[in-house]
Amino acid sequence: MNDETKRNGPTNKGLLPGILKGLATTAKTATRTTHTHEYPDVAPDLPPRSRGVIALLEENCTSCMLCARECPDWCIYIDSHKETVPATTEGGRDRQRNVLDNFSIDFSLCMYCGICIEVCPFDALFWSPQFEYAETDIRDLLHDKERLGGWMETVPPPPALDERAAEPAEVAAANKPARMPRGRAT
Ligand code: SF4
Ligand code: SF4
Repeated sequence: MNDETKRNGPTNKGLLPGILKGLATTAKTATRTTHTHEYPDVAPDLPPRSRGVIALLEENCTSCMLCARECPDWCIYIDSHKETVPATTEGGRDRQRNVLDNFSIDFSLCMYCGICIEVCPFDALFWSPQFEYAETDIRDLLHDKERLGGWMETVPPPPALDERAAEPAEVAAANKPARMPRGRAT
């Protein structure tokens, strides 16, 4: 027995209260509601506007390049070519239109800022809450237009309009009564 033990008595004197205190803490925390999800066994309940992956609606894309120019990470790659559309009426002029050859986003560079979606004037890009696309090879995070198009089916429908919101301008214009020709007003 060393000098300190002689002075303070046996060290296991305070052991029992310590164990009881530990057991009480364990019992208290064991009955609390858990805040963790057992992913991947339990899918997380994500809000519909979660930024998981970007989906492309190819039919709406005009290859205007606005999203690629505004992307702060320069991780959108677009290739297109012009195609001549013959005139549909006699004496009409042929038209030119852009045809999308490639549209890719490199998700290893993307910082999910959403600028590309905000600036697209033709509603061709959407957020999907889908996030399960981790890869073991970083090069596979480059999603081409087919893969980006495939995400469209995971895009949630837009939220319903607020019932007290003003009528959309397009609906108001469509519902406006036609103007009577001059001189026929009653
Ligand atoms: S979310 Fe931001 S970083 Fe990602 S592709 Fe769009 S603009 Fe670029
Ligand atoms: S801004 Fe929209 S329409 Fe223009 S290239 Fe990008 S996705 Fe296509």
